[in-house]
Amino acid sequence: MPPAPPYSLDDLDDALAAVVPRMRALLGEPGRITTPLSLPELAQRFTGLLPAEGGGWEGVGRLLDNDLLPHSLRMHHPGYAGHQVAVPLPAAAAVDGLLGLLNPMASLSDMAPSGVMVERQVVRSLAALVGFDPAAADGVCTSGGTVSNLIAVLAARNRAFPEAWEGGMAGGRPRAFCSEDVHYSVRRAFGVGGMGTDALVPVAADEAGRMRVDRLVAAIDAAHQAGDTPFLVVAGAPSTPIGAFDPVGEIAAVAAAEGLWLHVDAAHGGGLLFSDRLRDLLDGAAAADSLSMDGHKMVYQPSSQGWLLFRDGADAYGAFRQQVPYLLGPDGADRGFDAIGKSLQCTRRLDALKLWITWHLYGSRTFGGWAERCVAAARLFHARLVDHPDFEPVHEPASNIVCFRARHPSGRHVDPFHDAIRARLLEQGRAWVVLTTWRGERLLRTSWMNPTQGEAEVAGVVEALATARASVLAQG
Ligand SMILES: *Cc1c(COP(=O)(O)O)cnc(C)c1O
Repeated sequence: MPPAPPYSLDDLDDALAAVVPRMRALLGEPGRITTPLSLPELAQRFTGLLPAEGGGWEGVGRLLDNDLLPHSLRMHHPGYAGHQVAVPLPAAAAVDGLLGLLNPMASLSDMAPSGVMVERQVVRSLAALVGFDPAAADGVCTSGGTVSNLIAVLAARNRAFPEAWEGGMAGGRPRAFCSEDVHYSVRRAFGVGGMGTDALVPVAADEAGRMRVDRLVAAIDAAHQAGDTPFLVVAGAPSTPIGAFDPVGEIAAVAAAEGLWLHVDAAHGGGLLFSDRLRDLLDGAAAADSLSMDGHKMVYQPSSQGWLLFRDGADAYGAFRQQVPYLLGPDGADRGFDAIGKSLQCTRRLDALKLWITWHLYGSRTFGGWAERCVAAARLFHARLVDHPDFEPVHEPASNIVCFRARHPSGRHVDPFHDAIRARLLEQGRAWVVLTTWRGERLLRTSWMNPTQGEAEVAGVVEALATARASVLAQG
């Protein structure tokens, strides 16, 4: 007799007994922040094909302890100041386990009767934070900013070019406008949407990285003169490289005067809307037609959880104009509570549940306080660099992102010096930052994503950077 398929309570208990202590360890002694191995060394441990016979939790536990966990990036480590990925709330991570077993299909009310209500309630609550009328707004939970931006671009395209969904873009010459510092996913949406990436016109930003509104107006005029059809402006809140906020209010006024769709890409900054003190950075967002914000960035949710919100709920159905008889109602619309008509994906996790539960647990004010702490950590870090002989910040932090140069003894800016320092920092394993290229210069870049980081942690990262820099110089 083959063993019964592992669906019993005992099977669940065995899994939790293996997983829960290892989850606890992730919040325990920090140790190294990432793997000491090079990628080719690490690859050695993952060769061969997976087994025909399973080895049980004992074998898997060894794999987790030897090969996987010590060679993962530890996001809760006090030295983590890297990409704009959330340091996830333990409660949200635990709910992820519950969600996996429940496995609701978030887009269908008959597969997730309470689940669709959860998602609607989160959408309305987020819409209210943006300043949209929650009764008129609508939206959908997505896999993140990339998909949110794609759906928004398609909805805007379909409004301006109603024939595009069925007939393609043969006729028009669409033009959209964004900051030169726009996130690459927006450009990708133009390739996917059949408009061509050249349809997205980059507008120069000022010294502080904010889109120049005079240049925006000029670019729209030039497009009209060339016989093109402007239809969309994308504002970054903030933009990606240095976290600068485009002047959303002024851009909204231009979009309104020109009759253009305004999309605000607040994938990163959306979480600041929870804070009464930081919300002004997104002033004007309430006039947007659509807004992207990621739960898995500044809302402390595990990946993946993105949100796309529409001021006018009818626009939420603008991107996908299809009849799917077995999923949608006879007119192609969904059945009121379903999200198939708004969602790119068919099967979709109820990732909304994690925000719904943590929102109930902690309240929106607390989320706002955490955003303030992250921004405060960035300002502290910036202040320490200003006074530091080895480093030099290249901008005032508008959000929780800080980019900076490492001073080279030659007095010149040396791009590879930055790569070498970053590599040495990771080898030393006490802190984790990333690299970027902005205005033609290689820079080190931090995003302060962990609301428990304060003076001591910021000082630790600065110290680790100085040690890495000194070590690079010593070893040549
Ligand atoms: C992170 C980010 C994105 C991409 O979002 P994903 O959730 O990674 O898909 C898009 N735009 C901006 C401004 C971002 O910060």
